[in-house]
Amino acid sequence: MTSFAEEQQTEDYLFKIVLIGDSSVGKSNLLARFARNEFYPNSKSTIGVEGVVGALIVYDISRRQTFDSIGRWLNELHSHSDMNVVTILIGNKSDLKDAREVSTTEGKALAEAQNLFFMETSALDSTNVNAAFQTVVKEIYNILSRKVL
Ligand code: GDP
Repeated sequence: MTSFAEEQQTEDYLFKIVLIGDSSVGKSNLLARFARNEFYPNSKSTIGVEGVVGALIVYDISRRQTFDSIGRWLNELHSHSDMNVVTILIGNKSDLKDAREVSTTEGKALAEAQNLFFMETSALDSTNVNAAFQTVVKEIYNILSRKVL
């Protein structure tokens, strides 16, 4: 991302980001949308970071059952308690305004209660896709900077 390049880091970090959520909420499309629009320049060295991962937990704002599954996905994630997981809750398909079953307020409230970042996205029209990934990556970067310094 540009912020990495602008800061002229001598080393890059390698970490894992996982996409989690019910079938068909849009995980593959979010990743495809993000990957096509972003470019990470190669660098000479990479630090592989153990124990810090990013997670995007995704539901579909037009299908309440996918929102109801979030608690289960969070339990799954928390069962790996050795991991420091930077998590963002994603309400995807925000373009489907007429079919909305989960309000923005409900999404925000769940995120606040669970101490997660929150964003509504659309892989279809690109809304907030980069911002969602960037939120996670920046927070991981902040954590890693504190560890390294
Ligand atoms: P996954 O199973 O979570 O990986 O979901 P996919 O990425 O395969 O998407 C499932 C379906 O939802 C596909 O038909 C996509 O075209 C559609 N889809 C994914 N993201 C969006 C979105 O933001 N808006 C709309 N309207 N459809 C989407």
